[in-house]
Order: sequence, then C-alpha cells, then structure tokens
Amino acid sequence: MAIDATLPYDDGNIFARILRGELPAKTVYEDEHALAFHDINPQAPTHILVIPKGAYVSWDDFSARASDAEIAGFVRAVGKIARDLGLVEPGYRLLANVGPDSGQEVPHLHVHLFGGHGLGPMLV
Ligand code: ADP
Repeated sequence: MAIDATLPYDDGNIFARILRGELPAKTVYEDEHALAFHDINPQAPTHILVIPKGAYVSWDDFSARASDAEIAGFVRAVGKIARDLGLVEPGYRLLANVGPDSGQEVPHLHVHLFGGHGLGPMLV
C-alpha cells in the first residue's frame, strides 16, 4: 500500500532492515552516505535502488532535513554508480516516488536507477 510520506520515519521498514544487515540485498555499491542494491522485482534490464544511510522517509524529507554533506554524498554516489555500471553512454533514468499519488511503497527514500536497452519514453 502506498505510504503517507509525511509520517515520522519507521525504522522497521524493509530498507532500514537492509541497512542494518537484517535482510539480504544484492549490493552493488556502498559508501558513507549511500547503499545501492538490485531491485527484487526489476522493471528494466538494470534496476538498482540507491538509498541514503540516514533515516529519511522520502525525497521530500531528505531534501528538507539532510545536511549538505549527506545530500552531496548521496547525489555523487548515484552518479558514480551509473558511471561504474557503464550506463552513461547508452543512457539511464532516475525516479523517486514521493507519497501516495506516486505509489511510494517503502518509507525510506530510494532512487530507482533504470538502465539497459529499450527504456522507452517516460510514462506518467
Ligand atoms: P513501487 O513498488 O510502486 O515502485 P516504491 O517506489 O516504493 O514503490 O518502490 C519500492 C521498490 O522496492 C520496488 O521496486 C520493489 O520491487 C523494491 N523492493 C521491495 N522489497 C525489496 C527488497 N527486499 N530488496 C530489493 N528491492 C525491494
């Protein structure tokens, strides 16, 4: 069920549990500010989720509360992951769902990184 992104952070959410090592993930990148792993239900040939290490419900929460260092570290990590995976030349797409209208399911900010052939036009 889509979540209310204005709710306080719930540290029992799936991605918080992945960050604490309580649930497995196919990790592709980790640093001080970000963790990236394969989406369990890929919607493109490459489908990675990038999450901040801090406790942020959504992009809205992150952009309002995170420090400049956290924001810079996270944004740089997303770009580095795409470069490291060789996605820049063929192209890739970023997506962050926020709140009920978007269908956000997991109440920890995650940026979807889609790559691979045939991404097609953006559908909204
Ligand atoms: P939606 O499910 O509508 O795309 P989100 O933007 O909240 O909403 O995306 C949650 C994403 O997390 C989905 O793409 C889902 O496949 C993925 N996911 C859920 N559980 C896990 C998990 N344990 N490991 C990896 N990806 C997961």
